[in-house]
Formats: sequence, structure tokens, C-alpha cells
Amino acid sequence: MYITSLTLQELEEKVKQIGWERYRAHQILNWIYKRFVLDFEQMTNLSKEQRAFLKDNYLIHSLELLKVVEAPDSKKFLFKTRDGHIIETVLIYERDHLTLCVSSQIGCAVGCTFCATAKDGLTRNLRVEEIIGQFLQVQSLTKDKIRNVVFMGMGEPLANYENVRKAVEIMVSSWGLDLSKRRVSISTSGLINQLNRMAQDPLMRELNLAVSINAPFQSLRESLMPLSKTNTLEELLEVLYSFPYPPDRRIMIEYVLIHGVNDEVEHAKELARLLKKGKKKFKVNLIPFNPDPELPYKRPPMEKVYRFQKVLWEEGISTFIRISKGIGLFGACGQLRSKRLVLR
Ligand code: SAH
Ligand code: SF4
Repeated sequence: MYITSLTLQELEEKVKQIGWERYRAHQILNWIYKRFVLDFEQMTNLSKEQRAFLKDNYLIHSLELLKVVEAPDSKKFLFKTRDGHIIETVLIYERDHLTLCVSSQIGCAVGCTFCATAKDGLTRNLRVEEIIGQFLQVQSLTKDKIRNVVFMGMGEPLANYENVRKAVEIMVSSWGLDLSKRRVSISTSGLINQLNRMAQDPLMRELNLAVSINAPFQSLRESLMPLSKTNTLEELLEVLYSFPYPPDRRIMIEYVLIHGVNDEVEHAKELARLLKKGKKKFKVNLIPFNPDPELPYKRPPMEKVYRFQKVLWEEGISTFIRISKGIGLFGACGQLRSKRLVLR
């Protein structure tokens, strides 16, 4: 049993069952989530017997750190799961804070044609302790506190709703990692059912929501994102227009710019039209495509990226460009695929 798969309440139940005082649960989680101590031996306010009991019956998390790859603005961590799969986590140094990009699945079933994670399909969902383990391992190796988490690594987080939700609960609870809900972002390719579920869920709907639109026309979106055949652009936008989001916040629209595919002025104009149709305000994040030898696309020249941004600006939509300096070394957050990296 993994401690980091449990909420405080669940751990309190467990310690009660073995006849310990209830506050022991709090003490254990304090070591893990406040001091990032990942070894029961070091939990010195527990008795020797208690530490031994924990060691015999529990593990803290399940990931083995294999490798760290450094880039100028980020660091990539490769972990091995218990059943031998490789997962990736990226720590990004932003101007004044650190952001951790976590994976939610091994592979992905959504099959976007521009995404390296899609290549081998879905292997399996990550478990709660595997999601939390990414944070704990990276934080225990990092001096400054990580305050931002984005679910933009491998996988479609809303396709692993239950485990992502519980991991989020651990991340934002005061007894857990105590992150602000506004600093945890869920990025989704737009699964309508799951977005509706999120909209009903007080915990999940207060997070930052980022939605990968990537194309403003249904037929083009279908060709890039096969899920769009059943989760159409029109339905997706309806869900977003009515999403119960605090009025002072904006849903983020992600748009990967691919050379000669979705990067023309007509695409920008149509995107602006769609985003202005509802009453809600959106912000747009443009991501110039990160090339990969196995993917059939190119990154547009920067002039086209700026031109696209200008069209949206002129329509009054706040638009940012996201580029990773790390791409020379490895695909950025959102373009992760580890098997090959390990083989190299
Ligand atoms: N599955 C979720 C989250 C992981 S992908 C989603 O699709 O939103 C995170 C982001 O990376 C998405 O916006 C996706 O469109 C983007 N992305 C995927 N492959 C990319 C590539 N080769 N270049 C640039 N961005 C990419
Ligand atoms: Fe999955 Fe997101 Fe990659 Fe699409 S872009 S295949 S949804 S990880």
C-alpha cells in the first residue's frame, strides 16, 4: 500500500485500525508533503516500532528515478514505474517561479497526429501515487518550492479522471501539498463528457482549465485530432461557453501552430470569431509545433507565429506564445515520449 495514494482521512482510518493515535496520520503526511521526507526512518517523531511497522507495511511512492536531462530553461526527469514503464516529468523555470509538468497516463489513446505521445497508443492510466510521486521526487531534488503544476505531460488527464482528481485533492489540500487551486492546470484535448463531469465537480472546476483546440474548422480538427469526430468542435465550444468558471478568470485555449496546416490568417480570424461568439472571455496560448523526426509536420517561421498572434490581438483576445528553449535537447512539455529517449 502506498501512503501517497491516500487522503488524510483515509490514512486516519488506517492508523485507527492498527490502534495508533489519530494524529499520527497527520504527522506522517507532514513529513511527506511539508518536508518532502521520503524515508520512514527519518520520521523522528514516530517511535522506532511505528517506523518499523510502516516500513514493513507501506511504501511512500512507487517511482524510481532513472535519469535527469538538463536544458537551459527546464529539466526533464525520467522515472521507471514498478511494472517497468518509463514516464516523464518536466520542471520548467519560469521568470519568477517553478512549474512542474506532470504525466497522467503512459501513452495516450486520443491519437493526435502532431503528438509524439500518441505514437504507441495508451498503455495504462497512472495511479495516484505515480502522479504524486512525480511531484515529490522532483521537489525533494529541488531547492525552491514548486508552486505550479500543469497536467500537460504524457496522456489525457480527463481520460484518467478518478486518479487525477484524487491527486489534485492531495495537491490542493492544506494537509497535502497545499498548492493554490489557481496554480494547478488541467490541459485537455476536449472530452465532452468529462468536461461536463468537471463542470459539476466543485474541486475540479476551480482549477485552471486549458483546452487544446488546435484548429478552428471541424474538418481540419478531425484530421489533426481524431477524437473530434465524436467530440465535435461545436459541442466543445458550447460546453466552454457555459462552463461554470469564476467571472474574473479565463479558460485557456491552446493552439499548436503547424506550418502550412493551421497557421494562416483565415485560421486566426475564424478562431477569434468562435471565441467571441459566447459571452465568456478566453485567453489563447500559441505553441509553435515542436518538430520530431517521426512526425510529418514542420514548425512555422516566427513571422507567421507573430502574424497569427496579431490577428487575435486585433480582435481583442489576449494571446501568448509558448516556446521551450529545451527543444534542442528534448521535446517540450506536451511532447513526451520516453521509449525512444531511453533507447538512444
Ligand atoms: N492531452 C492533453 C495534455 C497533454 S498535451 C492535451 O492534449 O491537452 C499538452 C499540450 O501539448 C497540448 O496542447 C498539445 O496540443 C501540445 N502538443 C502536443 N504535441 C505537440 C508538439 N509536437 N508540438 C507542440 N505542442 C504539442
Ligand atoms: Fe494525447 Fe494530448 Fe498528445 Fe493529443 S496532444 S495525443 S490528447 S497527449
